[in-house]
Amino acid sequence: MSFTSQIQAVAYCRTPYKQKFGIPRQPGLVEARGYVELAREFNHIDAVRGLEQYSHLWLLFCFHENLAQGWKTTVRPPRLGGNEKMGVFATRSTFRPNGIGQSVVKLHGIVKHKGKVCLEISGMDLLDGTPIVDIKPYIPFSDAIDGAVGGIAQEAPELIEVEFSQQALTQTAKYSMREHSPDLEPLIRAVLAQDPRPAYKKAKEDPKLYQVALYDLDIFWKMQDGKAQVLELVPGKIQSQ
Ligand code: SAM
Repeated sequence: MSFTSQIQAVAYCRTPYKQKFGIPRQPGLVEARGYVELAREFNHIDAVRGLEQYSHLWLLFCFHENLAQGWKTTVRPPRLGGNEKMGVFATRSTFRPNGIGQSVVKLHGIVKHKGKVCLEISGMDLLDGTPIVDIKPYIPFSDAIDGAVGGIAQEAPELIEVEFSQQALTQTAKYSMREHSPDLEPLIRAVLAQDPRPAYKKAKEDPKLYQVALYDLDIFWKMQDGKAQVLELVPGKIQSQ
């Protein structure tokens, strides 16, 4: 059965995450700051009147970077090391029939910036430029469920230690002076503590040089002694969308 209603972006999410690799796998794991910018047709302060009374929001969004790859009935969740299959509807896979994701984020405030209504948020797990298809207040009495069972994802993932080289520390201090990336050091620490490597690559010693793109920077790091070692920060090629 098909709908007559058309889904369109009501907003776009602006985040420090410029590529999929390194984005936390669920919201609330990393306190990155970002904002939701209402799209032109919905850019009225009246559309969010009353939302400031809530501490958290549901964002419904489109996994727009994965749409072209379609979906399969079963997926291999990273939690299971990428070895076992589960039904697509039993997972939070980003490859879904309608490509819809949902995340709870913290709402810090509502501002008007350069004529655009913006919701200041944190804790999102979204790529910069992600189209938001709906925004709803989080309602604790109904949305938070005591004693809920979380299947293969009952516990938050374990964290790993993160260390900086002297060079990376100096560079991080320099780039943190900029107005748009004041939280750079805690952000790098929190992102790498999640160990963004694929599930099938979790060796404590790993010769590969990895890179995550945060703000306008490429952060180079590798795994040594079970710790993420930040080596260098380099101005990145990926810019904000
Ligand atoms: N909390 C949401 C949910 O459960 O529907 C998303 C969970 S999904 C596992 C989170 C991952 O989606 C991130 O780690 C990132 O790799 C990916 N992602 C985020 N934004 C995306 C986008 N716009 N297009 C494709 N993938 C995206």
